[in-house]
Amino acid sequence: VRKVDRLNKLLEEIDSIVSNPADEIKKFKSETGHKVVGCLPVYSPEEIVHASGALPVGLWGGQTKLSKANKYFPAFACSIMQSVMEFALNGVYDELASVIIPAPCDTLKSLGQDWITAAPKIKPVHLVHPQMSRIPAGINYMKTEIIHIKDELEKITGGKISDESIHASIDIYNEYRKVMREFAVVAADYPHSITPKIRHMVMKGGYFTEKGRYTSMVSEIITELKKKDVEKWNGKKVVLTGIMAEPDLLLELFDECGISVAGDDLAQESRQFRTDVPEGTCPIQRLAEQWSLMKNCSLIYDPKKRRGQMLIEMVKESGADGIVMCMMKFCDPEEFDYPIIKKELEAADIPLLYLEIDQQTPSIEQARTRIQGFFESLEQR
Ligand code: SF4
Repeated sequence: VRKVDRLNKLLEEIDSIVSNPADEIKKFKSETGHKVVGCLPVYSPEEIVHASGALPVGLWGGQTKLSKANKYFPAFACSIMQSVMEFALNGVYDELASVIIPAPCDTLKSLGQDWITAAPKIKPVHLVHPQMSRIPAGINYMKTEIIHIKDELEKITGGKISDESIHASIDIYNEYRKVMREFAVVAADYPHSITPKIRHMVMKGGYFTEKGRYTSMVSEIITELKKKDVEKWNGKKVVLTGIMAEPDLLLELFDECGISVAGDDLAQESRQFRTDVPEGTCPIQRLAEQWSLMKNCSLIYDPKKRRGQMLIEMVKESGADGIVMCMMKFCDPEEFDYPIIKKELEAADIPLLYLEIDQQTPSIEQARTRIQGFFESLEQR
């Protein structure tokens, strides 16, 4: 009983962090006296923020009604950035000293430009990832971008960011990535304890918590899970792909319909930790090289479009019954990848469910019908 209690206690702690990120941020500021920096999707070099002593916090939108964002965005801008803009305009991010805004898609480019007037108190730091990331010129360009972020953060925090501190932060982040990858594998063996909603919660908690601390918490969760017998699952298993899988109500539907998560290729989850920062003597070079190693994401240029093949491999390795495409409403990069993935999965005879992710008006009843229908179609195979 005591072991289960420890697991529950850790999950409760993460639940509290994820449910009240603002409290976590205030606590960090009052305990350390350091600043907090927002990191917008999809990829921001959090290690530099961490090395500055500030807390990097992920800004992945959230459920909200739009009332002001439409002054800046047309109705067909993606749902997540509409939420981010609404939150920014409503002062939700006012505890942040700065925000890093990458520009891998048109919506983020617009957000970066609009931020200056929408949230003038929070300094934006812009980041442009080179699309030709693997050629030497791409790596060199990425280095100049990382140096630019470092310079801006030094101005914001008022302190120098040493090479040693960046190396140390990279070590902490690589350890975090390793532990999160392990969690993704172990969680699949405990589908009753780690439901789709709890799995997502554990993936999300790291966005609001110092990574060293969070790594220890997730390591302990893994240890506690492994003390239990592997849980038998009579339902179906899927791999999730897309930008993110929210809200919780949607994830609860999976559980309700007898579907567990065998793995994911979500931008908010596994894409964040599947590529380590390589070894090296210059920390800036190391971070630039990491970008050159990242792949199989709609935001990363790949003329061969290998994401579909990666998903097929994931299904085979995990023993999943199908793939769920969690399509962020009006996300162009994901919509461009979708027809290619669909064709490849059909050719490989892998069932695919398309679900729309909407942070404003999620249609749960429609999703319930679709998930139930998908489960029944998997049962009949
Ligand atoms: S959801 Fe898609 S369109 Fe929106 S910011 Fe992310 S990548 Fe860009």
